[in-house]
Amino acid sequence: MLKNMDIMKLMDKFHSEEACREVLEDMRWPDGVTCPRCNSNSISRVYEYNIFDCNSCRYQFSVKTGTIFHDSHLPLRKWFVAVFLMVESRKGMSANQLSRVLKVSYKTAWYLCHRIRQAMIVDSPVPLSKVVEVDETWVGGKRKNVGHGYKGNKVVVGGAVQRDGEARLQVLDDRTREVLHSFIKKYVANNTEAIYTDDWPAYNGIADNDTRHETVNHSAEEWVRGEVHTNYVENIWSLLKRSLVGSYHKVSKKHLEAYLDELEWRFNNRNNPYLFRDTLLKLIEADRLTYENLVA
Ligand SMILES: [Zn+2]
Repeated sequence: MLKNMDIMKLMDKFHSEEACREVLEDMRWPDGVTCPRCNSNSISRVYEYNIFDCNSCRYQFSVKTGTIFHDSHLPLRKWFVAVFLMVESRKGMSANQLSRVLKVSYKTAWYLCHRIRQAMIVDSPVPLSKVVEVDETWVGGKRKNVGHGYKGNKVVVGGAVQRDGEARLQVLDDRTREVLHSFIKKYVANNTEAIYTDDWPAYNGIADNDTRHETVNHSAEEWVRGEVHTNYVENIWSLLKRSLVGSYHKVSKKHLEAYLDELEWRFNNRNNPYLFRDTLLKLIEADRLTYENLVA
C-alpha cells in the first residue's frame, strides 16, 4: 500500500489521525508494540487517550513518543502530506509553498521542511565506484551592475555521480586542486575504475594505478568523446538550478547544504518505489536514538 505513493493513495490511506497513527505503529513496531523504556512487549492499550501502558515498568507512551512527531502539535496528516510533497515533487517544495498547501504559518512550514530535510541526511554514505563523473558549479544570487565574471556572492557546489548510481553533493570553499581532490577522496572509492571531469586543471593528478582520469575539453566545445562525458552530473546541476529558481529565493551557504542533502536523497531514491515509506522511517528513527539515550 505504501508502494509507489501517489496523491490518491495518500488520501485513502491517511484519511484521519487514527489511520495515520495505525500506519506509524505498524512501521515503528512491525513485530508488535514494545516499551521504549524497558523493551517489554507486555503492553496494554489505553484506547481513550491513544496511549500504551507498559505492564512491566508502567511507562506510558504513544506511537509518537521518542520520534520527531512527539514535540509537534501538528496533526500527523499534515506531516505526512509534507513528506509526500517534499519527496515526490521533482523540484522540491519551499517552506512558502508548504505553508500555503498545508494552511500552516510560514514558521511552522519552515520547521517542517527543516526536520524532514534533517531526516534525509545519510550519515555514512557508501563510496561511489566504477565510473564516476565529477564537476563543480556556481550557485547563488545575481547582482546588478557587475560583470559576468563576478563571483562575489556565489557559492561553489561539488558533485560526484556514479554512472547509473548515486550522487554526492557538497558546498565547497573554492574550486582549487586541494579542495576538489579532497572532495573526490571523501566520496569516491580509492580504487574506482574511472573519473570523468571537464578540463579544469585543478582535477589534474587525480588518476593513479587503478583509476583512470579522462576529461572532456569543455573550453574547446568538446562535450562528449565516446563514453567520456559529464552529462549525468550536468543533469543534476540543471535540476538544482531549476528548483533554486522556482522555490528558493535566497540561498545562504547553510541552507544550500541542507537543500543539497534533500536533492541528493530524492535523486538517490529516484527508482525506489518505497521512497515515501523510507522517508517516514527515517523520520521515526531520527529522534529515537537521542531519545533512547535520554531514557536509558
Ligand atoms: Zn516498560
